[in-house]
Amino acid sequence: MREDLLPIGAFARACGLSPKALRLYDSLGLLRPARVDPVTGYRYYAAGQLESARLVVWLRRLDMPLAGIREVCALGPAAAAREIGAHWARVEAETALRRDLAAFLIAHLTREPAHGPGKDDLTMTELRHHAHSDTGRVRPANQDAAYAGGRLLAVADGFGPAGASASSAAVQALRFLDDGEPPADGVLDLLEEAVRAAAEAVRDAASGAGEAGTTLTALLWTGSRLALTHIGDTRAYVLRDGGLSLLTRDHTLVQSMVDEGRLTPLEAAADPRRSLLARALTGDGTAARPDLRLYDSLPGDRYLLCSDGLSTVVPEPRLRGLLAAAPDPDRAVTSLIDAAGAAGGPDNVTCVVADAPALAA
Ligand code: MN
Repeated sequence: MREDLLPIGAFARACGLSPKALRLYDSLGLLRPARVDPVTGYRYYAAGQLESARLVVWLRRLDMPLAGIREVCALGPAAAAREIGAHWARVEAETALRRDLAAFLIAHLTREPAHGPGKDDLTMTELRHHAHSDTGRVRPANQDAAYAGGRLLAVADGFGPAGASASSAAVQALRFLDDGEPPADGVLDLLEEAVRAAAEAVRDAASGAGEAGTTLTALLWTGSRLALTHIGDTRAYVLRDGGLSLLTRDHTLVQSMVDEGRLTPLEAAADPRRSLLARALTGDGTAARPDLRLYDSLPGDRYLLCSDGLSTVVPEPRLRGLLAAAPDPDRAVTSLIDAAGAAGGPDNVTCVVADAPALAA
C-alpha cells in the first residue's frame, strides 16, 4: 500500500463523512476511492481527495441533489463556483414562491383590510378603466386579447396556430368575476375557480392546434385589495406616488437564466430567445399553475396590464413617464400604444390602464 493512501475509516474521520456515506458516494460516482483492494474490496483514499470529500459535505449541507453534486465535483473551481451560484438562485426562487404563497394566505386570512374603503363602500366604487389592443406594424393578425371592467382587468397574449382563440377564451372565462357582488371575501377561491375555468377554456380552444396557448395576466380589484393571477410574459405594473413597480415576474426562459446568474438583465433583453415562455396556458393541458398574489390597493393607484408588444419596445422609465403624464386611462392607453408604434410596432400591443379612486377630499 502506498504511503499516502488512507483506509476508508481514517479517511471518513478526516473528512467528516461516514464510511457508509463514502460507499454510497463511490457507487454514485461522486467520489471514487484512489484504490480498491482487488482481494479484500477495501477502499483506500488519497490524502489529496480530502478537499473533494469536504466539498461534497458542504454541498450536502446546501441540500444540493446528488446529481448536482456529481456535476459540480467534475468541474474546475471557476465553473463549480458558477454552478453552485445557479443552484442557490434556484433555491431562492423556489423559496420566494413559497414566501409569496404564505403572504397570500396570511393576507387572505387577515379579515381587516389595512387600507382603503370598508366593505360597505365597495358597491360605490369602481375602477376607471380603458383597454385597447393594436395589431402593430408588422404582424398580420392580432392574437392578443384584453378586458377592462369596474373590478376586473385582463390581458392575454396568444401564440401558435390557435393563439387568437386561446387568448380570447382565457379572457372570456374570467369575465364572470366582474359581475355580481364585489368579492370582499373569498377572493382566493374565486380567483382559483376563474383560473381553472380559463385553463379549461384554453384547452378547448387550442387543443389539437399544435403548439398553441396563451399567457394570462389578470387583476381583480375589491376596493381595498388587488388579487393578481399571472402566467407567461404579459405584465402588470402599478404607478403609485410617481413610482412604477412591476407586480409580475416573466415566466420566460431568459428570466430564469437571469435568476440563475447565467444572463444579466441587459443580455436577456437582447437575447433572441427572450420570447420563449417557461410557463403558459396551453392546448395540451400541461399548463403550469399561474402565480396568485394579493396586494393592498391604495387610493390613487394607477394600474397597467400589457402584452410584451409594449414592454419589450418601450423602456420602463418611458412607461412611467407616459403613465404619470396622462390625465386619464383613455389617454394613457393611447400614448402607450403610440409609443410602441413609434418603436416599430414589431408585435401586437395591448394595454389596459385603470385608476383606483382617489381619497375623497
Ligand atoms: Mn406578444
